Amino acid sequence: MDRICIDELKIFAHHGVFEHENINGQNFYVNAVLYVDTEKAGLTDELEHSVDYGMVCGVIKEAMTQKTYKLIEAAAQAVAVAVLKSSPLIVRTDIEIRKPEAPIDMEFGSVSVKISRSWHTALIALGSNIGDSKSIIAEAVKKIEQNEYIRNIKQSSLIVTKPYGYTEQGDFLNGALMCETVLSPHGLLDLMHGIENEAGRTREIHWGPRTLDLDLIFYDKNIISEPDLTVPHPDMQNRDFVLRPAAELMPDYVHPVLGCKVSELLERLNEK
Ligand code: ATP
Ligand code: CA
Ligand code: CA
Repeated sequence: MDRICIDELKIFAHHGVFEHENINGQNFYVNAVLYVDTEKAGLTDELEHSVDYGMVCGVIKEAMTQKTYKLIEAAAQAVAVAVLKSSPLIVRTDIEIRKPEAPIDMEFGSVSVKISRSWHTALIALGSNIGDSKSIIAEAVKKIEQNEYIRNIKQSSLIVTKPYGYTEQGDFLNGALMCETVLSPHGLLDLMHGIENEAGRTREIHWGPRTLDLDLIFYDKNIISEPDLTVPHPDMQNRDFVLRPAAELMPDYVHPVLGCKVSELLERLNEK
């Protein structure tokens, strides 16, 4: 993809682990790569079809100076997210922060951190069958929506469903939400676990009653198979309470393992 590059943007800031760094400040240098499709701007010569790099420099300066971080990792994270949010045309950004005056007692050129961030599409299944399920789910959706690393939330209708697996429990309220996030799959899972815990989630019986269950169903077209995370969710194709809300939000999404659309998975399950 086309790239717009900002090199060696000099910003005086106070990031550092040492107190003297926070008090005295020092110069940081930011390199930013903005991934933008510039074809239309190239053909029309109109700025409205591209990204104003002057504006982005201002956004970087603000992210670098509005808060003092211990780590340039944290500063780079804040800069990357601010840059991604500054224009819908920026689909990915690489941010490098250099710190040539870092307090190291040896001769060196520079130390730096370089990160890449972009928007990813996720589908999260929502479920609850203890307490005021409607409010618990609404509260969880609000927390996800207000998270600084998430945008463009779309929520499905909520449906009342019979319990799955362990049937000696009350009916569930289920739904799904689709969103865009700059978080990694594990970063998103951690956020989901935090929100489950805040809703008082406990784990006594497998598939047992719960105040809130948030499952990561899809993350882009990624296939993840790790001890603590399997994506796409391995049992989603057998669950009406996941497929119905999913089909409402993304009927044409092709399951990266099963190779068919969500709408087809729902039809197949209904035929069984
Ligand atoms: P199921 O995943 O079959 O719906 P469950 O939701 O009742 O069962 P939990 O007790 O909520 O299971 O989760 C157990 C663990 O599953 C979590 O701590 C998490 O690490 C892991 N896990 C693996 N893949 C996923 C996923 N796609 N979404 C959410 N959790 C996952
Ligand atoms: Ca679940
Ligand atoms: Ca779960």
